[in-house]
Amino acid sequence: MLNSKPVCDRWFATRQINSGLYCISEVHYWEWNRANLWLIKGQTQDLLIDTGLGVASLRQHIASLIDKPLLAIASHIHFDHAGGLHEFDHRAIHPAEAEALRMGDNHAAVCSHELGFVLDEHFEQLPYAGFTAMQYRLNRAEPTHLLQEGDVLDLGDRAFEVLHLPGHSPGSIALYDAKNQELFSGDVIYDGDLLDQLPGSDIPSYIATYERLQQLPIDTVYPGHYQTFGRDRYHEIMAEYLEAKRQPGCPADVRSQFVVS
Ligand SMILES: [Zn+2]
Ligand SMILES: [Zn+2]
Repeated sequence: MLNSKPVCDRWFATRQINSGLYCISEVHYWEWNRANLWLIKGQTQDLLIDTGLGVASLRQHIASLIDKPLLAIASHIHFDHAGGLHEFDHRAIHPAEAEALRMGDNHAAVCSHELGFVLDEHFEQLPYAGFTAMQYRLNRAEPTHLLQEGDVLDLGDRAFEVLHLPGHSPGSIALYDAKNQELFSGDVIYDGDLLDQLPGSDIPSYIATYERLQQLPIDTVYPGHYQTFGRDRYHEIMAEYLEAKRQPGCPADVRSQFVVS
């Protein structure tokens, strides 16, 4: 059956957050899974963190904002983040998910039809005439850069450290600006239902990731979905998750019992 929804005029919308930061979103796509795509303007180079579904040209959409070399980064392989990476000349992902990107692995990207995460009803308007969810695939791309734990991205006036934070997916990364205490967190932490049962998810790794992040000085989190939040909410989200997931007998529980007694 032909999809009778209208074709949108503009697939993306851009909000300027401050002089060096823009948030781009796919406004006609389902809000629950709509990613925040962050464009960071540095002194010597720019960063794009996440690239959306890849159903419209993000590269064209942001062209007027780009005046320096641009590194496009997928925070992880999921289709709502890595779908548009193929469009960019400089493309980065963590090594654990490089092969999935190279092969266009729809299962690892959680967009295979069997998983049922890409549905026509999630598209309020169409990115182009004739689009159907059934034909959607992850755009395969050869990574030009691999980002690993401890790598530093120096933009001249600010720098980001790459943190490898598995749990949601094996190669999830976040970018941390220690000087400004800002974290671009992808799907590692956001203020909504956290997903730890997807292909490639691992709850013990997620717990270890949060125990690590609890030690990180944070002022602002720019997440992969939903609203930006600050330090208090950051700690609340992690505490709630850890409380729900830690099983009796976990080393962390034993430790806290000793502290109490
Ligand atoms: Zn994800
Ligand atoms: Zn996501």
